[in-house]
Amino acid sequence: MAEIRIENLRKSFGSFVAVQESSFTVEDGEFLALLGPSGCGKTTTLRMIAGLELPTSGSILLDKEDVTFNRARDRDIAFVFQLFALYPHMNVRKNIGFPLLAQGVAKAEIRARVEETARLLQIDHILDKPVSGLAGGDRQRVALGRAIVRRPKCFLMDEPLGTLDAEFRNVMVHELRELHNRIKATTIYVTHDQLEAMAMADKIAVMNHGVIEQFGSPQQIYDHPASIYVADFIGSPPMNFIGFGGGIAKGATSVQVGDAAVAVPEALEDVSAGDMVLGVRPEHVRFSDAAPLRGSIYGVEYLGTTQIVVVETAYGFCKVRAPADQVFRIGEAVGLDLDATRLSLFRKDTGKAIRTVRAGEMAHG
Ligand code: ATP
Repeated sequence: MAEIRIENLRKSFGSFVAVQESSFTVEDGEFLALLGPSGCGKTTTLRMIAGLELPTSGSILLDKEDVTFNRARDRDIAFVFQLFALYPHMNVRKNIGFPLLAQGVAKAEIRARVEETARLLQIDHILDKPVSGLAGGDRQRVALGRAIVRRPKCFLMDEPLGTLDAEFRNVMVHELRELHNRIKATTIYVTHDQLEAMAMADKIAVMNHGVIEQFGSPQQIYDHPASIYVADFIGSPPMNFIGFGGGIAKGATSVQVGDAAVAVPEALEDVSAGDMVLGVRPEHVRFSDAAPLRGSIYGVEYLGTTQIVVVETAYGFCKVRAPADQVFRIGEAVGLDLDATRLSLFRKDTGKAIRTVRAGEMAHG
């Protein structure tokens, strides 16, 4: 297995910059999700690592060896695409074994490795079936088998579950993570689905217009978003944003939102003036009659185990996750109590988080 490192990787197509100077390291055995909306540069990044696209500048290191200019087939990387192409005239066994046949591996060895791979993917019972009649999930398992059987140093996967329906997708998300736990192959997985990334990855790189906005564990990214963009992209529903003016002084532990003084984590930066944004996740807001931040119930989205209550305030809508059995009336006046230990603060002009320290935590950026 291998460590993948990219350093200042950049790709332009003419005057258009698809990937701006990007750097990160995927440790040996780690699962990284490259996450972002369509067109943000995920596939281009992956294709450069695979050797299918030449970077404009920067380097790619596999186990500390510079492979930036190596051909794809010399990189010992397996690529799994969304539109997985299986050979329709071959059965499952031959499809999985094909890369080994092409490498000239001996027949007995191919047989043993195909069977081992099929057991790993729990498709050993369909080895002699034609691929043409297989369901989507099994076809994807065969495509994965064809990648795994080569025992590559690492896997690059580009939205491999994109064509599956929602039910199969959920099953495959868990299967892929389990498979990763068993074979521990360094993996980079491209997706635009934040739930998929959160469920599977050890680390997530959130991309926006060719830039990696944040790189960290799912929990770091969820709890300490580096920007409004990340905070808005991660979480369902996403973070609430409440604007306020006047900046924030270093050491301040409360801010003035209209008439309400709202307690916040201690600011480690001095932002002397300007518009600011306070971010709070729906599960970190409680209803409290005494809370100075006021609003009225606008609507309720019932989710079964919980409900999302939409509150209209003078500063915009705020979504609150509440117990499913709590009863609300549309138009009812309510107070919102924000959990001061879980809030984020952002500059409105740059959208970047300002550094704060929450009780019992290290400072974060
Ligand atoms: P998607 O999920 O839609 O594939 P993505 O985040 O993977 O999105 P990329 O495919 O990496 O995005 O594309 C990033 C940008 O680069 C897009 O605006 C795309 O149009 C552009 N792009 C990609 N390949 C080329 C190319 N060969 N020539 C010109 N522009 C390209």
